[in-house]
Amino acid sequence: MSEQLQENIAKAEGYLARFKENTLGHYINGEWTLGQGETFDNTTPFDQSFLGKVAAATEADVNAACEAAEAAAAEWAATPGAERRKILHRLGDELEKRAEEIAMVESMDCGQAIRFMRQAAVRGAANFRFFADQAPEARNGLSLHQQEHTNYTVRNPIGPVAVITPWNTPFMLSTWKIAPALAAGCTVVHKPAELSPLTASILAECAEAAGLPKGVWNMVNGFGAVAGKTLTEHPAIKAVALVGDSATGKLIQAQTAQTLKRLHLELGGKNPVIVFDDADFDRALDAVVFMIYSLNGQRCTSSSRLLVQSGIKDKFLAALKERVANIKVGHPLDPATEVGPLVHTGHYDKVTSYFEIAKEDGATVAVGGKSLRDEMGPGNFVTPTLFVEAKNSMRIAQEEIFGPVLTAIEFETEEEAVKLANETIYGLAGYIWTSNTGRAMRMADKVEAGMLWVNSENNRNLPSPFGGVKMSGIGRDGGDWSFDFYMETKNVCIAHDTHRVPVLGR
Ligand code: NAD
Repeated sequence: MSEQLQENIAKAEGYLARFKENTLGHYINGEWTLGQGETFDNTTPFDQSFLGKVAAATEADVNAACEAAEAAAAEWAATPGAERRKILHRLGDELEKRAEEIAMVESMDCGQAIRFMRQAAVRGAANFRFFADQAPEARNGLSLHQQEHTNYTVRNPIGPVAVITPWNTPFMLSTWKIAPALAAGCTVVHKPAELSPLTASILAECAEAAGLPKGVWNMVNGFGAVAGKTLTEHPAIKAVALVGDSATGKLIQAQTAQTLKRLHLELGGKNPVIVFDDADFDRALDAVVFMIYSLNGQRCTSSSRLLVQSGIKDKFLAALKERVANIKVGHPLDPATEVGPLVHTGHYDKVTSYFEIAKEDGATVAVGGKSLRDEMGPGNFVTPTLFVEAKNSMRIAQEEIFGPVLTAIEFETEEEAVKLANETIYGLAGYIWTSNTGRAMRMADKVEAGMLWVNSENNRNLPSPFGGVKMSGIGRDGGDWSFDFYMETKNVCIAHDTHRVPVLGR
């Protein structure tokens, strides 16, 4: 074991000790409470050992959080944008101060390699700072002129909102959703995923330390079927932002129907990376490897389907096999680790089931396709895996596996690439590698996805829209799209006193 790993383990144990000793509760109206429900055990995917007990919110707990968010809504909405900006920057400072703790707790809670989690707090802080700076202008609208009237629009915060987040990169995704909500002047009830709840509590602590008023940020732990469902059905909640599975998106659409809530659903994907013969070979190879094997492949924008043109297929797959076989699987706190354990035993079972499914469907396992439990103990370790000789109709090409597993499919022509890319129920992201600009633009036009990257991996730009089409979701985040979601636009029409008012009954 390297010295660095030993040091990281010792530090992580220090940060995790309080979770082991105390049940993790809810943060409601500025108070930490265990609520009225049962508790459940949280374990680390590294070796299934106990990380601590977590309170599961009951309907009454969730109702209390929604009531707190409702009671705080008017005052927070009326707080000047410049003041909200100050508080949210302080929140960014708090996150940066606790960057190491956040990284280590996140790594042990969800199995993500520390090399990727090191930046989690910095990126989270950047999310708060970006939206904080726009808070003073968030209410701005348009001026729309008519001959005898002037219309202007103004935006107001929609009210209390629910933010429901998944277990993959839970910290970053929570900040990405909550920052614009608070900047817009909404109060929040956050429900983190039951499988990786720890860093959401650190976030709530940072919000408290930054001086956010009571009730503006509430956090309830627990399960989707009770805590999540109650939250989405509560009449005080005006909008629901979910990051999660497409099946959960459908449930939430049904659950919110009776109270007619605004929804933003960021859901699953089976994103194609399309590599043409004329692509920059080395850069494309680096990006293909990075975009499926980083973050354990537990990433909504991972390019889990490789569509590779026949002219370079053999050379590209040979180089790819070598790289995949070389990926370092290990302890999530080891700086050398590239792939850590999968988040949970249930998810491990799902991912490993595709190793058999691939063979049954007639694909070839070119690299991996194995559990590493015999070699690495009881953690949820699997080999980085590459399937070749696959068809787009196979389950390994159609279903979101959400692990370090790539399915490679050959194509001949541009038209075929478009057809294969679009033959999926999903439409979150796509990646195109070609040196032909015209082709890149034609492909970008035709591939059905909310986001396309040309000759790049998942480069992130906070003002740009983020979201999917088809079963990958509804709505967009990022820049002003986030404010549009968390705010209502009102139109005010003012007469110039020159038009004739219609007269009745005179
Ligand atoms: P999940 O849908 O199982 O859970 C997400 C959250 O929804 C959890 O907090 C869960 O408790 C809650 N939930 C479950 N049932 C609910 C219900 N009936 N009502 C209210 N809340 C409920 O997702 P997961 O397994 O935690 O995360 C992985 C999924 O998230 C993958 O499909 C992945 O693609 C997707 N994801 C999408 C994006 C994106 O931006 N499109 C980003 C990250 C993850």
